[in-house]
Amino acid sequence: AIRIEGLHKSFGPREVLRGIDLEVHAGEVVCVVGPSGSGKSTLLRCVNLLEQPTAGTVRVLGTEVTHPDVDIDAVRAHVGMVFQSFNLFAHRSVLENCTIAQRTVLRRPRAEAERVARENLARVGLADRVDALPAQLSGGQQQRVAIARALSMDPALMLFDEPTSALDPELVGDVLGVMRDLAEGGMTMLVVTHEMAFAREVADRVVFMDDGLVVEQGPPEQVIGAPTHERTRTFLRRVL
Ligand code: ATP
Ligand code: MG
Repeated sequence: AIRIEGLHKSFGPREVLRGIDLEVHAGEVVCVVGPSGSGKSTLLRCVNLLEQPTAGTVRVLGTEVTHPDVDIDAVRAHVGMVFQSFNLFAHRSVLENCTIAQRTVLRRPRAEAERVARENLARVGLADRVDALPAQLSGGQQQRVAIARALSMDPALMLFDEPTSALDPELVGDVLGVMRDLAEGGMTMLVVTHEMAFAREVADRVVFMDDGLVVEQGPPEQVIGAPTHERTRTFLRRVL
């Protein structure tokens, strides 16, 4: 679903990604972990071209997004993205938040968009909050709306960038539960997270990044359970 080869990204003189090779296969859940500033968000943002790579190739769902002639909107229509901040429309109801992109991007009729939105809001446990405004919901509920909004676009692939790190601790579990259900349903997911327990239980593969490079990757029991690199061990000692 994603194939990244020789990816470099610089901001001015600062090289933030220094040659990343990474694949995510259909149906796979890959968790990216690593210290703050190691380039995790930049990597994720290069997948749907929110950042323009400096060098290397990125293929997403069979399309080379690093090709100069790419129709990036066509690719983004199939890629759901959930950030730390929820970015919901404050003056629109939960239901409207989940129908706007369906109507404008996918050109779905209102009735169908609402049916799909209600289905996905039920899936994240918010069937009874369709008429609420975002401000009337908790952070965890707002993040679940953001996930339902992304799912309503029938994505082939979901990108998550620390979706729980802005939440109060007691709200984290509900969001991780929704993500776990998605993973079990076979969704292809690339997830940047600090939640090691989630990575250990849900990921097919864990990728440890440090200083713009993939230091090691493998099944969670290997990378989290028995890391071979000193930098991975040092990181895990601090977060576990
Ligand atoms: P965190 O865990 O704190 O979210 P991260 O691994 O996601 O960290 P990035 O956000 O990818 O790290 O940032 C990597 C480096 O790139 C940082 O040093 C950051 O300051 C720098 N950086 C990111 N975006 C920009 C930008 N738009 N302009 C300049 N520098 C940037
Ligand atoms: Mg980040």
